[in-house]
Amino acid sequence: MPTGIPPGSLEPVLAWIDARHEAAIADLQRFCRQPSVAAQGWGMDEMADLVVEALEECGASTSLVPTAGFPVVVGRLKGAGSRHLAIYNHYDVQPPEPLEAWSSPPFEAQIRDGVLYARGVADNKGNLVARLWAVRAWRAVHGTLPCNITFLVEGEEEIGSPHLAEFAAANQELVRADACLWEAGYRDPGGAPVLYAGLKGMLYVELHTRGVAFDLHSSQAPLAPSAAWRLVAALQSLRDPDGRVCIPGFYDAVRPPTERERELMRRYPIDGETMRRLWQVERLLGSSDDPAALTEQLLFEPTCNICGLWSGYSGSGTKTILPATAGAKLDFRLVPDQDPATILDLLRRHLADQGFGDVEVIELEGSERPAQSPVDTPLMEALISSAQRVYGAAPRVLPRMAATGPMEQLCQRYGVPAIGGAGVGHPGSRVHAPDENIRIEDFILAIKHIAALLLDFAG
Ligand SMILES: [Zn+2]
Repeated sequence: MPTGIPPGSLEPVLAWIDARHEAAIADLQRFCRQPSVAAQGWGMDEMADLVVEALEECGASTSLVPTAGFPVVVGRLKGAGSRHLAIYNHYDVQPPEPLEAWSSPPFEAQIRDGVLYARGVADNKGNLVARLWAVRAWRAVHGTLPCNITFLVEGEEEIGSPHLAEFAAANQELVRADACLWEAGYRDPGGAPVLYAGLKGMLYVELHTRGVAFDLHSSQAPLAPSAAWRLVAALQSLRDPDGRVCIPGFYDAVRPPTERERELMRRYPIDGETMRRLWQVERLLGSSDDPAALTEQLLFEPTCNICGLWSGYSGSGTKTILPATAGAKLDFRLVPDQDPATILDLLRRHLADQGFGDVEVIELEGSERPAQSPVDTPLMEALISSAQRVYGAAPRVLPRMAATGPMEQLCQRYGVPAIGGAGVGHPGSRVHAPDENIRIEDFILAIKHIAALLLDFAG
C-alpha cells in the first residue's frame, strides 16, 4: 500500500476505539461543558485553548491564528502517506436561550437513555471530538496516520464566519489540501449517513420603510401614508405564491443539475410526505409530488424568505395607531453560480423599477457565496466505502445541502474539493434549539467512520 500502513491495520484501530467508549464520551463532555457562545463572547478564549490542548494530546503541532474576531485553531499532523486531508470544524456554538426550555442545563452535558444533551454537541463539538478520537486511535495503535491532516477549527461559524475569508487568503498554505472534510453530518431517518458535495449561499438584508414622521392616531389614516402598507406592497413584489422570485435576472446565473446530480436525487429523494405531516401543512410549495422533483426543488431552488416582520403595535388587545416605520428581515438562499453582491444590486434595481425606490435596503453580515464540488471525487469515494464498512449500509449521497456555510471561501476558491458528512447528528438532534442532543451510538460510529475514512482516503 502506498501509505506504508500494512493491510489489516484498520481492525485493531476499530477495536481500540471500542475499548475506549467511556474515555471518548468523557472527552466530549469536557468540550460541551465549556461554553463558547460567539454571539455573546462567552468562553471563547477558554474554548480555543481547550481545542489547542486536545489537538496536542492527539500529537498535532498547533497554532492559534489571530483574526479580527476570534482566532482560528490550526492543528497539523504528519501521516505515513502523501495525501493531505483538511478537516474543517468550528468551536463556537449558538446561544443557549431560552434556558427554561431545556430539560437539563445546556452546558451540563447530561446523558439520559444513551443520548447526550448539550448546546453545541451536534453543532459542532461532537463532530470535532469524533474526528480527534479517530486520529488518536490511529496514533495509539500504529504510531502514525494513513494520511496528512490539517485541522482548521474556527470560532465564528455561528455568527456568519466574518473573518474566515481573510484568514484563508492570508494563510493559503494552511488551506490547500487534496480535499476538505466539512464540519457537519447526520444520519437520515432510516439510519443511513448522508454525504453532500456543496452548500447554498446567502444574502441577508433588512428592508425599512418610513411613512409619516411619528406614529399617528389611526383616525389620520384617510390622509397619512402608511409605512406598514408600503412595506407589505414592496414585499409582495418580490415573490409569487409558489415561491418563485420575481426579481428580473434573479435566476440568470443558476446552474441546473447535471445528469449525475439528477441521478443521485432520483436515487436518494427526500420524503415530502413526512415533511408535510411533520409541518402539519396541506401541501408543499410547487406543483409536483414526485420525490425527485421535490428534492431538486429543495436543493437547487434559490429562495427569498421573510425571517421577521415588524411595525406598529403587536401587544395584547387593541391600540389604534398608524405606525411611522416598518421593517423586515429577508434571507435569500443562493445556488451556484449566484453571487450575493449581484443579487443585492438586482434587488435594489427591482425595487426602484417597481416604484419602491424609497424602501431602504441594508445588507447584514453573513453573506456567503454558494459552494459546489464535483460529486465524484476521491474523498467522496473514500467516505462511501468507509461508511459502507462501518454502518453496514450504503450512505445517501446528495449533490448538496439546502443549508449555508463558509465552504466556498475556504475550499472551492482555492481549488480544494469539499465534502460534508461522517457526523454525529440524527433527525431529532434539535440543532440551534433547546435540548440539542446526539445519540452516543452515533458518536462512536462517527469515530469509526472517520478512522476508516483516513485509510480509504490515503489508499
Ligand atoms: Zn450551527
